[in-house]
Amino acid sequence: MSAFLRVSNLHVYFDTPQGVVRANNGVNLEARPGESLGIMGESGCGKTVLFLSMLRLQQPGRITAGSITLDGRDITQLPERDVERIRGRDIALVPQNQATALNPAYTVREQLAEAIVVRERGGSLGSVLGRRGSRMDGEALEEVRRVFRELGFADDRLMGRLLQSYPHELSGGMRQRVLIAMALLLRPRVLIADEPTTALDRATRAQSLAMLRRLNGALTMLVVSHDLDAIASTCGRVAVMYAGRIVESGPAGEVLSDPRHPYSRLLISAQRRTRGEPLPTMFADTANLVDVPPGCSFHPICPEVMPQCLVHEPAESKVGGVRVACHLYDGEAAPC
Ligand code: SF4
Repeated sequence: MSAFLRVSNLHVYFDTPQGVVRANNGVNLEARPGESLGIMGESGCGKTVLFLSMLRLQQPGRITAGSITLDGRDITQLPERDVERIRGRDIALVPQNQATALNPAYTVREQLAEAIVVRERGGSLGSVLGRRGSRMDGEALEEVRRVFRELGFADDRLMGRLLQSYPHELSGGMRQRVLIAMALLLRPRVLIADEPTTALDRATRAQSLAMLRRLNGALTMLVVSHDLDAIASTCGRVAVMYAGRIVESGPAGEVLSDPRHPYSRLLISAQRRTRGEPLPTMFADTANLVDVPPGCSFHPICPEVMPQCLVHEPAESKVGGVRVACHLYDGEAAPC
């Protein structure tokens, strides 16, 4: 099946007093309908800027080059009016902070009803809350029940209580379930889950991952996380990001069990280290996105650096079923 979401050579820059931050510096990525793709990498590697750019919410960052196509339409070139229609209804975001993402002044029922109104009449979430028409009739209520059942919440008696609740009356896991339900009520074709396990306790984390697994195959899902286990348990494919580029991508089983890129190896081994083992020293600093080194941006800390790495930026090439950007594979890889 061919990709319907494709990011090609995306560059997103931020002007700062320290210089131009190259948050995305040539990102290539694609996702097929119904696929779950994990995007992993350390904080500051450009994951958030990447998905915000898909929604054209990357400001004050500037998209300086590249494209993001959804079904062949380049989102980076569309007028704002068209992008508004894409946000939520084509690409929906489940934000990471469930504690603050819901509006504390409205009940769950009102906020879910708003998602349905936005889907059917347009506008953006937050803009029609409390207006006439954002109530929930029988048909909408049945749809809400069905979405919650899909997310593993099937108790109709508790559902009534949930709908009357305000966000502060809910547990973290239930707030996250409401956020996912809101996103699903928009009937998007792409769902972005931003750090779905951040700040959750163990039990809630497991619930959150189970909810995402239930959605596998139903829509295209991007799980953006630094949590290896979260990605391993929810995604069929994975992309590893470093310094604003995807350095390795491929089937999750292959990338996570036999990573090719030196950064992927270190990242994965750091996450799998046993308690008390020290973190590799490379994780002491995030990559410098202002004074990006020439050649491979990982070369200053790469344990396998070679002379050509200091001069030439590695192109992406195919090794087995995996795409990797590293000179170690120059001899054996097929160009992508
Ligand atoms: Fe390391 Fe060179 Fe590969 Fe970069 S290109 S990851 S420096 S071996």
